[in-house]
Formats: sequence, C-alpha cells, structure tokens
Amino acid sequence: MKFRFSCIKCGKHLEEKENLVSCPSCGGQVLVFYEQPSFVVNKEKLTKTPPNMWKYLFLLPLMEGDLIISLGEGGTFLQKAERLGEELGIKHLYLKNETVNPTGSFLDRGVSIEITRAKNRGYSNVKCISRGNLGASVAAYSAKAGLGCTIYTRLGIELGKLYQAIVCGADIRFVKTYDDAIRMLEYPCKGDYIISITSPFFLEGIKTTGYEVCEQLDWSPPEFFIVPVGEGGHLSMIWKALRELSYVGLIKDIHSKMIGVQAKNCSPIVDAFTRKLNKPAKPKDFGMTFHDIAVKQPMLGELCLKALKESNGYALAVSEKRILEAMRLLAKCEGIFAEPAAASTIAALKLALEDRIIERSDKVVCIITGAGLKDPAVVKNLIKHSTMETPISLMLTSSLDSRLGKTKHLILKILQKYPTYGYLLWKTLAQEFDLRITLPSIYQHLQELMVAGLITVINEGRRSERKKKVYVLTKKGEEILS
Ligand SMILES: [Zn+2]
Repeated sequence: MKFRFSCIKCGKHLEEKENLVSCPSCGGQVLVFYEQPSFVVNKEKLTKTPPNMWKYLFLLPLMEGDLIISLGEGGTFLQKAERLGEELGIKHLYLKNETVNPTGSFLDRGVSIEITRAKNRGYSNVKCISRGNLGASVAAYSAKAGLGCTIYTRLGIELGKLYQAIVCGADIRFVKTYDDAIRMLEYPCKGDYIISITSPFFLEGIKTTGYEVCEQLDWSPPEFFIVPVGEGGHLSMIWKALRELSYVGLIKDIHSKMIGVQAKNCSPIVDAFTRKLNKPAKPKDFGMTFHDIAVKQPMLGELCLKALKESNGYALAVSEKRILEAMRLLAKCEGIFAEPAAASTIAALKLALEDRIIERSDKVVCIITGAGLKDPAVVKNLIKHSTMETPISLMLTSSLDSRLGKTKHLILKILQKYPTYGYLLWKTLAQEFDLRITLPSIYQHLQELMVAGLITVINEGRRSERKKKVYVLTKKGEEILS
C-alpha cells in the first residue's frame, strides 16, 4: 500500500529521508500512514499463509524489490494460558510469546525492517544506543546482513544481552549517560545507519505483534491488551495496528483497551496517566534493577499516553516483588521463562483483577516481550531460599574451578573457614566432599598453592602439633575466592 511520513506534532508531511528519526521542523515524532487500499484485503488468503510477520508486507514501509534480511522473526505463538488462567481466576487468557523471537525479544520485528532498509540502501555500518535487548538484536541482524555494528550502552547492562551482542561481533562502546550517546550519534558519518527506537521504520516493525494477535484470535480482538512500558513504543504501535486493521476492513470495531505496565520504582507514564498529563511525569524515586522497564524519560511517552487515553485504557505500576513472583508463576504454570519486563504483565493482570478493572469473563492478551535467561542476577534472585540455592552457588563457583582446578578450589574454601594442616584437609575432602585422593597429592596441591601465593604456613598448631604445618589463606587467596 502507498504510504507517507507525517509528523504527529505539527502535521508536516515528510519525504523518506535517510535516518528519519524525528521531524526536522519541530522535533516531533514521525509515523507512517497508509493510503486507503486500492484492493480488498483477502482475509482467507492471509489466514492460510503460515505465521510470519512478513505476510503483512502490504502494511509495512519497504520498497518493492527490497531484499528482506530475516532471521525468522515474528509469527510467534499465541498461547492459551489455561493453567495460569485457572490460577488467577480468568477464563480467556492468552500470552503472546515474544520470547521465541530469534534474539529472544519482540524488538527483532523492528530491527529486521531497519536492517533490511540499511542493507538495501547501501549502508555499511549500523549504530544504536541500547539498554540491552535492542543491542543484542541489532548485533545479530547486522551479522546476518554483513554490516558493521556499533552499540553504545552503559555499564550495568544485563550480562546476557551484552554477551549476545559481543558474540555476534558488535563493537561495544560504554558511555556514562545515554544523553552522551545521543550527542555522539547526532552527526553520523557517511555510510552509518542509525537505528533508533523512535524511527518510524522500527516502530512499523513492532506493530506487527498487534496484527498477529488479532489474526490468531480469528479477527476478534481481546477486551484488554496488557503491555510492558519502557520507552512506550510497543503499546503505542499495537494500538496503531488495531486502527489499521479496522481501516483495511480486517476487524470490525475496536473495543480493546490498552493497559500499560511499569515498575513502581520508575513509573513516569503511570504517574502522568493518573494525573491526567499528556507528557511523562518525572519519576519520584529511582532504584530499579530491571533496566528495560526502568526508563526515566520514555522517548515515546506522549504517544503511549495518547494510546492509553484513546483506548480508554489504564496504566498500572507493580512492585519488583510482584514482578519476581509473576516470573515464577508464569514459568510454573505455562512453561514460559520470561524476563522481568515481560512478566510485569502478569503482575499487572493480577492487580487489575483485584481492582475489578478486568472482569473474570474478559478476553485478555498479555504481551510476553522477552526471554528470562538474559540476566543472571535476576535468575539468581529467583532461586533465592529454594532448595536449589546451595547447589547452584556451588556450580557458579565452577568458573573458578576451571581456572584453578576443583581440588585446589576446595582446599582454598576449607582454609577460608579455618586454618588447618594437610592431613585434616585430606580427611575433610574425603568425608565432606567425597573427593578421595592420596595424601602426597594433597601436599603437592598445597605446595603449588604456596608457589602461587594463595596460601602460606603459620605456626598455630598446639604443642603436640608443632611439627605439623598449618596452612592459611593469604590476602591474594581471599581475593581469588571472593
Ligand atoms: Zn513536526
């Protein structure tokens, strides 16, 4: 379908310029608008085509003949959540499982469009600012397209997401603040393609979640969409998708209400919504550990608030504790291991049921935006106080084992608790750790640890033990263990 670019603030029509991320006249958000289709959209044909976001190409802003760079994004499963629904007391609950996207997040939908555009317009490098998932996705798609990739991020980014980007060959640059990164990318070099979450192309990609949900529900949209709100783009775009589906005649009426979810510690959209403001409020407090939904100044905040208002929706804030509980519940009942931002939708659903915002007979779709294994710190938090906590922490020290060898590591651990002599070490290893080696090899290990400067000998033995060497950790040994 024919499309145009318009600034939603001043209404100015814009040409498809390269790196079109905001209106050059007023700095407003630019979106894509489609002209009335000159053909009747064939619902049956669409439904018969296998799940894939590219079947909506007629509602995406690419040029004819563009070679699509795809890793198999979109077309994700809409899971009927019977067990979770029973647990929460709601009959028609569905989960749009975006964790199964190629890099584990819904952002792949937007990034595939951006990288397709960058590749087909002859760019050689891609650059982006990322809180985590975006960088992982851009790195993967750049690799597939054979483009150079630079990611600007902050120290403290969730490790899983950083690993993804590094392994895909991205050049990682750490910045002090995201504003610093924005300044660095203001004047891109020739050949550099900037991917921003406010780019109209990126946004058009992530809207396809909304198309798919409607199609999967046989073109009968749910009463509620519950969507995590970080920058605010996904919720806004799902709302845009509903309006477009109605525009091209694929759905009859739009009765869906959008519910945006934020974490209590950082909830500028929820605060603005409650106070009936058009712009995100300044967050009162900030001590958040979940980066993807802890956005102090959401770049698409105004658009998100507009969607909430237009849909007669709600904005809800949930505590970190409730989010962690929801992560467990979602995994236990439905087998989906989601990241905190994604599981916040389940925490919000619980809250909305308690507050009677949602009735138990309503049809509800929660958007499960990203996979749970990306942040080892959160995962560790999840198993706290469970019977698996000790075995897991033992396994986590295995990285030290591989550098030091298991026996030496255990010797250090024992010596950390109490200084002792070789024979007792030998006995403890056998009795407590089931590690049976000869006494001479214990002394060999001790000798090597002494050479490495990790242990030393003191004369702490009682009179009868004076001849025995008592071993103790050195400062260096303590450091290695910690
Ligand atoms: Zn403008």
